[in-house]
Amino acid sequence: MKLEYIVVSDLDGTLLDHHTYAWNAAQQALDLLKLRHIPLILCSSKTAAEMLPLRQALDNHDPFITENGAAVYLPAPGSDDNNYERIEFGMNRADILSILEKIKRSAEGKKFCFTGFSDISLSELMAATGLDEESAGKAMQREFGEPLQWQGTEEDLKEFQQILNRLGLDTLQGGRFLHVSAGCDKGKAVNWLKNYYHEKTGLYCQVIALGDSENDISMLEIAEFPVLIKSPVKAFPALSHEHVLRTTGYGPVGWNEALLELLNQKQGTQ
Ligand SMILES: [Mg+2]
Repeated sequence: MKLEYIVVSDLDGTLLDHHTYAWNAAQQALDLLKLRHIPLILCSSKTAAEMLPLRQALDNHDPFITENGAAVYLPAPGSDDNNYERIEFGMNRADILSILEKIKRSAEGKKFCFTGFSDISLSELMAATGLDEESAGKAMQREFGEPLQWQGTEEDLKEFQQILNRLGLDTLQGGRFLHVSAGCDKGKAVNWLKNYYHEKTGLYCQVIALGDSENDISMLEIAEFPVLIKSPVKAFPALSHEHVLRTTGYGPVGWNEALLELLNQKQGTQ
Protein backbone atom coordinates (compact mmCIF):
# COMPACT_ATOMS: atom_id res chain seq x y z
CA MET A 1 0.00 0.00 0.00
CA LYS A 2 1.23 3.47 -0.83
CA LEU A 3 1.80 5.48 2.32
CA GLU A 4 0.22 8.90 2.57
CA TYR A 5 1.20 11.63 4.98
CA ILE A 6 -0.39 14.69 6.42
CA VAL A 7 1.79 17.32 8.02
CA VAL A 8 0.31 19.19 10.97
CA SER A 9 2.19 22.23 12.17
CA ASP A 10 2.04 24.72 14.98
CA LEU A 11 2.82 28.31 13.94
CA ASP A 12 4.51 30.54 16.56
CA GLY A 13 8.00 29.27 17.36
CA THR A 14 7.54 26.36 14.94
CA LEU A 15 6.87 27.33 11.30
CA LEU A 16 7.14 31.00 12.30
CA ASP A 17 10.24 32.41 13.98
CA HIS A 18 9.54 33.15 17.67
CA HIS A 19 10.78 36.76 17.39
CA THR A 20 10.14 37.86 13.78
CA TYR A 21 7.23 35.58 12.75
CA ALA A 22 9.09 34.94 9.45
CA TRP A 23 8.99 31.52 7.74
CA ASN A 24 11.33 32.02 4.78
CA ALA A 25 13.89 29.58 6.25
CA ALA A 26 11.29 26.81 5.76
CA GLN A 27 10.65 27.53 2.07
CA GLN A 28 12.47 24.48 0.73
CA ALA A 29 10.38 22.06 2.80
CA LEU A 30 7.18 24.03 2.04
CA ASP A 31 7.92 23.62 -1.69
CA LEU A 32 8.57 19.90 -1.26
CA LEU A 33 5.18 19.41 0.44
CA LYS A 34 3.45 21.15 -2.49
CA LEU A 35 5.40 19.10 -5.02
CA ARG A 36 4.39 15.86 -3.31
CA HIS A 37 0.76 16.96 -2.71
CA ILE A 38 1.10 16.42 1.03
CA PRO A 39 -1.52 18.44 2.96
CA LEU A 40 -0.13 21.01 5.40
CA ILE A 41 -2.56 21.54 8.26
CA LEU A 42 -1.81 24.71 10.21
CA CYS A 43 -2.73 24.09 13.84
CA SER A 44 -2.30 27.00 16.20
CA SER A 45 -3.53 28.82 19.28
CA LYS A 46 -4.22 31.67 16.84
CA THR A 47 -7.73 32.76 15.85
CA ALA A 48 -9.33 32.12 12.46
CA ALA A 49 -8.99 35.87 11.75
CA GLU A 50 -5.21 35.60 12.22
CA MET A 51 -4.80 32.35 10.32
CA LEU A 52 -6.71 33.32 7.17
CA PRO A 53 -4.17 35.91 5.89
CA LEU A 54 -1.29 33.61 6.86
CA ARG A 55 -2.76 30.77 4.82
CA GLN A 56 -3.14 33.14 1.92
CA ALA A 57 0.48 34.32 2.18
CA LEU A 58 1.62 30.69 2.33
CA ASP A 59 -0.66 29.79 -0.62
CA ASN A 60 -2.15 27.10 1.63
CA HIS A 61 -5.58 25.67 0.77
CA ASP A 62 -5.80 22.80 3.22
CA PRO A 63 -8.04 22.52 6.30
CA PHE A 64 -6.76 24.34 9.39
CA ILE A 65 -7.19 24.18 13.16
CA THR A 66 -7.74 27.28 15.29
CA GLU A 67 -7.43 28.22 18.97
CA ASN A 68 -5.59 25.11 20.20
CA GLY A 69 -7.96 22.62 18.60
CA ALA A 70 -11.22 24.43 19.43
CA ALA A 71 -12.33 24.29 15.78
CA VAL A 72 -11.41 22.64 12.48
CA TYR A 73 -12.08 24.69 9.35
CA LEU A 74 -12.69 22.70 6.17
CA PRO A 75 -12.60 24.64 2.89
CA ALA A 76 -15.90 24.10 1.07
CA PRO A 77 -15.25 22.02 -2.06
CA GLY A 78 -15.02 23.92 -5.33
CA SER A 79 -15.44 27.32 -3.69
CA ASP A 80 -13.06 30.23 -3.27
CA ASP A 81 -11.17 30.62 -0.02
CA ASN A 82 -13.99 32.37 1.84
CA ASN A 83 -16.27 29.42 2.45
CA TYR A 84 -15.61 26.98 5.24
CA GLU A 85 -17.38 24.32 7.15
CA ARG A 86 -16.52 24.73 10.83
CA ILE A 87 -16.42 21.74 13.16
CA GLU A 88 -16.42 22.92 16.78
CA PHE A 89 -14.85 21.15 19.72
CA GLY A 90 -14.32 23.93 22.27
CA MET A 91 -16.58 25.75 24.73
CA ASN A 92 -17.37 29.26 23.49
CA ARG A 93 -15.39 32.17 24.86
CA ALA A 94 -18.28 34.02 26.52
CA ASP A 95 -18.93 31.01 28.77
CA ILE A 96 -15.23 30.69 29.62
CA LEU A 97 -14.98 34.40 30.46
CA SER A 98 -17.96 34.22 32.79
CA ILE A 99 -16.40 31.27 34.66
CA LEU A 100 -13.07 33.17 34.97
CA GLU A 101 -14.94 36.22 36.26
CA LYS A 102 -16.67 34.12 38.91
CA ILE A 103 -13.33 32.68 40.05
CA LYS A 104 -11.81 36.18 40.29
CA ARG A 105 -14.68 37.33 42.51
CA SER A 106 -14.73 34.24 44.73
CA ALA A 107 -13.07 34.20 48.16
CA GLU A 108 -10.39 31.73 47.12
CA GLY A 109 -9.82 33.45 43.76
CA LYS A 110 -9.11 36.98 45.05
CA LYS A 111 -5.37 36.32 45.40
CA PHE A 112 -4.90 35.12 41.82
CA CYS A 113 -3.02 37.59 39.65
CA PHE A 114 -3.58 37.19 35.94
CA THR A 115 -4.43 39.30 32.94
CA GLY A 116 -6.50 37.93 30.09
CA PHE A 117 -6.95 39.24 26.55
CA SER A 118 -10.32 40.60 27.67
CA ASP A 119 -8.57 42.80 30.31
CA ILE A 120 -5.94 44.40 28.06
CA SER A 121 -5.94 47.01 25.32
CA LEU A 122 -4.75 46.55 21.77
CA SER A 123 -1.52 48.45 22.48
CA GLU A 124 -0.81 46.30 25.55
CA LEU A 125 -1.22 43.18 23.43
CA MET A 126 1.07 44.69 20.78
CA ALA A 127 3.72 45.30 23.44
CA ALA A 128 3.38 41.76 24.87
CA THR A 129 3.60 39.98 21.53
CA GLY A 130 5.46 42.27 19.12
CA LEU A 131 2.48 42.03 16.74
CA ASP A 132 1.52 45.03 14.61
CA GLU A 133 -1.85 46.72 15.16
CA GLU A 134 -3.71 44.78 12.47
CA SER A 135 -2.41 41.39 13.63
CA ALA A 136 -3.05 42.18 17.30
CA GLY A 137 -6.64 43.15 16.39
CA LYS A 138 -7.08 39.77 14.70
CA ALA A 139 -5.58 37.99 17.73
CA MET A 140 -8.26 39.68 19.87
CA GLN A 141 -11.05 38.12 17.76
CA ARG A 142 -11.19 34.97 19.84
CA GLU A 143 -14.20 32.66 19.55
CA PHE A 144 -13.31 29.97 22.06
CA GLY A 145 -10.60 30.07 24.73
CA GLU A 146 -8.97 32.89 26.67
CA PRO A 147 -5.17 33.43 26.77
CA LEU A 148 -3.81 34.70 30.09
CA GLN A 149 -0.58 36.10 31.36
CA TRP A 150 -0.02 34.71 34.83
CA GLN A 151 1.52 37.21 37.25
CA GLY A 152 1.22 35.19 40.46
CA THR A 153 3.38 32.52 42.03
CA GLU A 154 3.83 28.97 40.71
CA GLU A 155 2.04 27.69 43.82
CA ASP A 156 -1.02 29.87 43.20
CA LEU A 157 -1.00 28.80 39.55
CA LYS A 158 -1.31 25.15 40.62
CA GLU A 159 -4.29 26.01 42.82
CA PHE A 160 -5.87 28.08 40.02
CA GLN A 161 -5.47 25.15 37.61
CA GLN A 162 -7.10 22.77 40.10
CA ILE A 163 -10.10 25.10 40.46
CA LEU A 164 -10.40 25.39 36.67
CA ASN A 165 -10.25 21.60 36.32
CA ARG A 166 -13.04 21.18 38.86
CA LEU A 167 -15.15 23.52 36.71
CA GLY A 168 -14.40 21.58 33.54
CA LEU A 169 -11.79 23.97 32.12
CA ASP A 170 -8.25 23.12 31.02
CA THR A 171 -5.08 25.19 30.88
CA LEU A 172 -2.29 24.76 28.39
CA GLN A 173 0.99 26.63 28.22
CA GLY A 174 1.69 28.14 24.79
CA GLY A 175 4.77 30.05 23.68
CA ARG A 176 3.69 33.29 25.38
CA PHE A 177 0.35 32.70 27.08
CA LEU A 178 -1.47 30.28 29.34
CA HIS A 179 -4.53 29.23 27.35
CA VAL A 180 -7.78 28.47 29.15
CA SER A 181 -10.21 26.31 27.18
CA ALA A 182 -12.69 23.48 27.58
CA GLY A 183 -13.43 20.33 25.63
CA CYS A 184 -10.60 20.61 23.15
CA ASP A 185 -6.93 20.17 22.47
CA LYS A 186 -4.82 19.99 19.32
CA GLY A 187 -4.66 16.17 19.54
CA LYS A 188 -8.45 15.74 19.41
CA ALA A 189 -8.76 18.01 16.37
CA VAL A 190 -5.88 16.28 14.57
CA ASN A 191 -7.39 12.86 15.27
CA TRP A 192 -10.70 14.05 13.83
CA LEU A 193 -8.92 15.30 10.68
CA LYS A 194 -6.98 12.06 10.33
CA ASN A 195 -10.28 10.16 10.24
CA TYR A 196 -11.68 12.75 7.85
CA TYR A 197 -8.82 12.13 5.39
CA HIS A 198 -9.19 8.38 5.80
CA GLU A 199 -12.90 8.56 4.95
CA LYS A 200 -12.28 10.93 2.07
CA THR A 201 -9.42 9.07 0.41
CA GLY A 202 -9.73 5.51 1.68
CA LEU A 203 -6.04 5.75 2.53
CA TYR A 204 -4.48 5.40 5.92
CA CYS A 205 -2.68 8.69 6.59
CA GLN A 206 0.34 8.93 8.82
CA VAL A 207 0.75 12.18 10.71
CA ILE A 208 3.97 14.16 10.85
CA ALA A 209 3.38 16.79 13.57
CA LEU A 210 5.65 19.71 14.45
CA GLY A 211 5.47 21.87 17.58
CA ASP A 212 7.56 23.64 20.22
CA SER A 213 5.36 23.98 23.33
CA GLU A 214 3.24 22.21 25.94
CA ASN A 215 0.09 22.94 23.94
CA ASP A 216 1.51 20.86 21.08
CA ILE A 217 2.06 17.70 23.15
CA SER A 218 -1.43 16.21 22.59
CA MET A 219 -0.97 16.31 18.81
CA LEU A 220 2.67 15.17 18.96
CA GLU A 221 1.63 12.17 21.08
CA ILE A 222 -0.86 10.88 18.50
CA ALA A 223 1.42 11.55 15.50
CA GLU A 224 3.37 8.71 13.92
CA PHE A 225 6.29 11.12 13.47
CA PRO A 226 6.43 13.91 16.08
CA VAL A 227 8.97 16.71 15.70
CA LEU A 228 9.94 18.98 18.59
CA ILE A 229 11.22 22.30 17.27
CA LYS A 230 14.01 23.95 19.24
CA SER A 231 13.02 27.21 20.92
CA PRO A 232 15.35 30.18 21.50
CA VAL A 233 13.53 30.98 24.78
CA LYS A 234 12.84 27.66 26.52
CA ALA A 235 13.75 23.98 26.76
CA PHE A 236 11.94 21.25 24.83
CA PRO A 237 8.68 20.24 26.55
CA ALA A 238 8.57 16.65 27.87
CA LEU A 239 7.39 14.07 25.34
CA SER A 240 7.82 10.34 25.44
CA HIS A 241 7.41 8.85 21.99
CA GLU A 242 9.41 6.20 20.20
CA HIS A 243 10.07 8.25 17.08
CA VAL A 244 10.46 11.80 18.37
CA LEU A 245 12.82 14.00 16.40
CA ARG A 246 14.30 17.07 18.14
CA THR A 247 15.66 19.72 15.81
CA THR A 248 18.99 21.49 16.17
CA GLY A 249 17.78 24.61 14.34
CA TYR A 250 15.31 27.08 15.88
CA GLY A 251 11.78 27.67 14.53
CA PRO A 252 11.52 27.56 10.71
CA VAL A 253 15.18 26.49 10.36
CA GLY A 254 14.42 23.38 12.44
CA TRP A 255 11.10 22.90 10.61
CA ASN A 256 12.90 22.82 7.27
CA GLU A 257 15.63 20.52 8.57
CA ALA A 258 13.17 17.99 10.07
CA LEU A 259 10.75 17.80 7.15
CA LEU A 260 13.47 17.45 4.51
CA GLU A 261 15.04 14.68 6.55
CA LEU A 262 11.74 12.82 7.19
CA LEU A 263 10.32 13.18 3.70
CA ASN A 264 13.53 12.25 1.91
CA GLN A 265 13.87 9.17 4.14
CA LYS A 266 10.27 8.18 3.49
CA GLN A 267 10.49 8.64 -0.24
CA GLY A 268 13.25 6.05 -0.17
CA THR A 269 11.10 3.51 1.68
CA GLN A 270 7.87 3.82 -0.30
MG1 LIG B 1 4.36 27.43 19.34
